[in-house]
Amino acid sequence: MQRVLQTTIAGSLPKPVWLSPPRELWAPWLLDGEALAEGKRDAVRLVLRDQERAGIDIVTDGEQTRRHFVTTFIEGLDGVDFQHKRTVRIRNRYDADVPVVTGPVARRAPIFVDDAHFLRSATAHKVKFTLPGPMTMVDTLYDAHYKSREKLAWAFAEILNEEARAIAATGVDVIQFDEPAFNVYFDEVRDWGIAALERAAAGLACTTAVHICYGYGIKANIEWKKTLGSEWRQYEETFPRLAASRIDQVSLECANSRVPIDLIGLLAGKDVLVGAIDVASERIETAEEVAATIRAALAFVPAERLYPCTNCGMVPLARDVARGKLAALGAGAALVRHELD
Ligand SMILES: [Zn+2]
Repeated sequence: MQRVLQTTIAGSLPKPVWLSPPRELWAPWLLDGEALAEGKRDAVRLVLRDQERAGIDIVTDGEQTRRHFVTTFIEGLDGVDFQHKRTVRIRNRYDADVPVVTGPVARRAPIFVDDAHFLRSATAHKVKFTLPGPMTMVDTLYDAHYKSREKLAWAFAEILNEEARAIAATGVDVIQFDEPAFNVYFDEVRDWGIAALERAAAGLACTTAVHICYGYGIKANIEWKKTLGSEWRQYEETFPRLAASRIDQVSLECANSRVPIDLIGLLAGKDVLVGAIDVASERIETAEEVAATIRAALAFVPAERLYPCTNCGMVPLARDVARGKLAALGAGAALVRHELD
């Protein structure tokens, strides 16, 4: 029997200072050419060792090879102009200069498949590979061609599926699609969001996951959270639809948030990646605090379906803080595992 409460992370981790300036989204690379390729691989090796030492069971590459979780994937596609960016409001929350869809989008070559090969070869642990979800991709672009969020999402879903099948063939254990936009556009989630996500994940031999959160710990997100009231019930809209979907795992935010914990009960039958680490705070949780979040979730999810995780990516945090939080996650899960034995 495999051990219960296997730990994992939402995805990203901070990069070393020699690779990219710290604490910045869309931070530029500080190396180029072969040195950049080698630097990325070294950074992946470092984050793997950090996760292994912290007792994380299902590890990721910390997105060390990407400048951004959405736009780096889009850079590999035809039909998108990165030279003449336009300003859009992301998830109705903050403005960003984003690329423009100028024609039919297409995947001319594998994008992250070499990275997935390297990740698989660089650790003996189970590995998870993350990709952006179709709706979140649409929301991180200016569309001057399709003029329909649904049509563009569907085109992305087909491209994501090609890429995901090639990544799964490298032997990764889990492919996760990041869909923070699912917490904002509820009508679209219902009308086409889940269907597009399932299209992206169709026919994959590995475990499939979706990550839905309240965002990185950046100012715009923290301000937005203040407007959400005393109880955050956004998940209530989406979880029943995900429970009925073909996606295996759902990664969500719990730690230090106002999400009523009982909403997890709406995900019956799914693996639940319970966010037990707050990524919007520099304060490092104690193992006991992580354990308390896991224990609260255990009232609604059986232990064999509960995966202690982070609320979201940790890329905007300081490196030592992220390492401390990884250690707390591993130690907190071990405490509860011990109680269950
Ligand atoms: Zn997130």
